[in-house]
Amino acid sequence: MINYDVLVVGAGPVGTTFARYMALNGFKVGVLEKKKEIGVPLQCAGLLGKQLKKVNPLPDELIINQVYGAYLHSPSNHELKVSKNETQAYVLDRVGYDKFLAQLAVDAGAELFLNHRVKDVDIKKGQVYMGNGKEEMSAKVIVGADGYNSLISEKISNESNQTSKQVQAAQFLVNFKKDLFNTNYVHLHVNAVLSPGFIWIIPLTEFTARIGLFGNNDYHQLNNILKDFLNHNTNYGEYSILKKYYGIIPVYNSKKKLVNNKCFLLGDAAAQVKPTTGGGLIMGFKCAKIAADITSKALDNDDMGSLTDYESEYQNKFKKELNMQLRVQNLFKTLSDNDLDYMFNKLKEKGAEKIISEYGDMDSQSPLIKELLKTGLLFTILPKILSRRIFSLWK
Ligand SMILES: Cc1cc2nc3c(=O)[nH]c(=O)nc-3n(C[C@H](O)[C@H](O)[C@H](O)COP(=O)(O)OP(=O)(O)OC[C@H]3O[C@@H](n4cnc5c(N)ncnc54)[C@H](O)[C@@H]3O)c2cc1C
Repeated sequence: MINYDVLVVGAGPVGTTFARYMALNGFKVGVLEKKKEIGVPLQCAGLLGKQLKKVNPLPDELIINQVYGAYLHSPSNHELKVSKNETQAYVLDRVGYDKFLAQLAVDAGAELFLNHRVKDVDIKKGQVYMGNGKEEMSAKVIVGADGYNSLISEKISNESNQTSKQVQAAQFLVNFKKDLFNTNYVHLHVNAVLSPGFIWIIPLTEFTARIGLFGNNDYHQLNNILKDFLNHNTNYGEYSILKKYYGIIPVYNSKKKLVNNKCFLLGDAAAQVKPTTGGGLIMGFKCAKIAADITSKALDNDDMGSLTDYESEYQNKFKKELNMQLRVQNLFKTLSDNDLDYMFNKLKEKGAEKIISEYGDMDSQSPLIKELLKTGLLFTILPKILSRRIFSLWK
């Protein structure tokens, strides 16, 4: 049996980032990936906040566009424009980026095994089993970076993934006949059916965009909502759908068990995903660094019991922000189309575009919420919405 210091199950972007850190720290690292090719099929909008460059390398050739801001659209198409004078986010060639990160891990010394689906894990002994005549492997630490439907998560918690909260996501790559887009701006459309999900439009060129959505709906419903959206927007004219993508986004759960014996979870497998946007990459990369520091210490001291520090450090760092985002989501879930229109109008009337532009951040919403509370803006909007809801109960 081949022995490693660390075996990572899943060569997604978060798993390979962790593997790179561990290999650079001098450990013997193996990465097991069930697919034959890294990164395909695409299951991502590829929109990442500017913080990305602080947490992982990003070569220029993988940046399709730089985004300065967003147009937010209410159900009746009232619009808020939020933007800054500098890049706020990048639109990435996500398939290329996954391959790039895997190559960095290999360059650092990690061994990558493609076409190696892990079928079982013994979390006490630190052994993984592939079946099909492929050898078993063992490690002092096993990391489940195997995505939303994580086998390792089931082993760690002894619970089926069916019990975890997830939302579905769909995306089309759409080509339009006319040039519709300014590639420096994305568009987000909200409505009560999808809320707290939303529709995103991420232009790749003036003619082509990734148009997708996530919500508490099944794939067929999401598909239909997207088609209706394209057909009812009179501005779009003729279009063709070049590709369709589908994926699952796990929902953050502060009670999820992340560490058990020699094993822990990372990235989507750990539901390390921002509730408001469904974005998982930047947080996954930050968690990969925390996990690598703690795992390196545990291996140096031969003290695998200290792996639990990873869970507590992760919760200390992110729990407050993630719970706040969950509360924002719960509020959005209760709003009707009328409420959303009203809110957009009021925000515009009260000059909120400037505040959102200044304090809004794709990766952390609490500075904006704090500012909206400080200026009293939230109080001027919410009580009226809630009182209209209460009033409507009597009609
Ligand atoms: C439609 C959609 C749009 C999104 N848009 C964005 C966005 O714009 N920005 C953003 O930040 N995030 C976005 N996300 C989320 C983002 O894609 C994920 O958070 C990210 O891919 C998580 O990376 P990961 O490495 O944890 O897991 P994954 O990328 O899911 O990688 C897991 C890997 O494990 C492998 N694997 C699974 N089981 C096994 C097994 N038993 N044995 C071996 N290998 C296995 C899989 O093949 C896969 O390669 C989006 C998600 C969806 C669905």
